[in-house]
Amino acid sequence: MANVDGIREIAPEEALRRLQAGAVLVDVRGDHERALGMAQGALGVVREQLEAAPAAVVPDPDAEVLLICQSGRRSLLAAQALHARGYRNLASVRGGTTAWAAAGLPMLRPQLDPDFEERYSRHLRLPEVGLQGQQRLAASHVLIIGAGGLGSPAAYYLAAAGVGHLRIADDDVVERSNLQRQILHTDAAIGMAKVDSASARLAALNPRIRMETVRERVTSANIERLLDGIDLVLDGADNFPVRYLLNDACVKLGKPLVYGAVHRFEGQVSVFDAGRARGSLPCYRCLFPEPPAAADAPNCSEAGVLGVLPGVVGMLQATEAIKLLLDIGTPLSGRLLHFDALAMRFRETRLAPDPGCAVCTPGRPFPGYIDYVKFCSG
Ligand SMILES: [Zn+2]
Repeated sequence: MANVDGIREIAPEEALRRLQAGAVLVDVRGDHERALGMAQGALGVVREQLEAAPAAVVPDPDAEVLLICQSGRRSLLAAQALHARGYRNLASVRGGTTAWAAAGLPMLRPQLDPDFEERYSRHLRLPEVGLQGQQRLAASHVLIIGAGGLGSPAAYYLAAAGVGHLRIADDDVVERSNLQRQILHTDAAIGMAKVDSASARLAALNPRIRMETVRERVTSANIERLLDGIDLVLDGADNFPVRYLLNDACVKLGKPLVYGAVHRFEGQVSVFDAGRARGSLPCYRCLFPEPPAAADAPNCSEAGVLGVLPGVVGMLQATEAIKLLLDIGTPLSGRLLHFDALAMRFRETRLAPDPGCAVCTPGRPFPGYIDYVKFCSG
């Protein structure tokens, strides 16, 4: 029996015997850690909470208190803190829950399959994600418009992260000129439908997720069907008509839209969430009420684009998507992030809702879908 600063460290087997003889065993790890399994018979109380009010957990300072964490470090610190508060009969379980489980002692475990636990273990360790967050991702439905430069990295990371349902819409075929940046597709996929190539690669990465491929051009006629049951939309479109259409539909149906765009060496990212927060957050039209003249907005095939640029922007979009799905952090709503790859500089512009916006003004009824191709050709 080791003795560290007056605190005994005992083996898990010894802890179990003492527990059965009436000692109190307290698991001081975070909720997200205990959710994955804890020593049977332990009380779960986060260390900070226990140290702040030990009497609420163990009223008698003479009672025998055993502390356990993951590896034995935090429990030792907690024991020292309780010692300072007048508790005298303390011990810390050496090796923590890891050693307890390895010794084959009884555990209280959720019914998780080993693939889930191992695949997402680095998420499960983050208190901000944890088991609850990971299950939330698994239940999420994301629509990705375009399996191209932005959609490729975004879909890859959303699939890897365990977003359970991905609906990917694209009507294009893989061309050799795509491969410089559209990393979902391989040389062998040239000539294949992008949605088929994407779905094969994503399934190879994470067979747990469900994919729905829609080999269609996005139009006013199919947009509401595409958005049906969707929690969030990731815009990987390469043209203005689809961008305006997506914006209008997302405002109408109250879906958050994660926007990204690239041009030569520069990119932009934002989150448009006016549909859920009318009058307080902007939509894409608040920023660009009118589409640019065609000459001012050439697409990648005309102007060229640095291959890694959509990678950076698409992954920023994926990051925002995951944050929104988990409801963590500060979303990029109301802010437009510019990225200049040549200068390696990020710049942020505040975006306010336009009180005269044709689509998202509070109280204004939805004006209906328009002929977006005509609208964008001036
Ligand atoms: Zn607006």
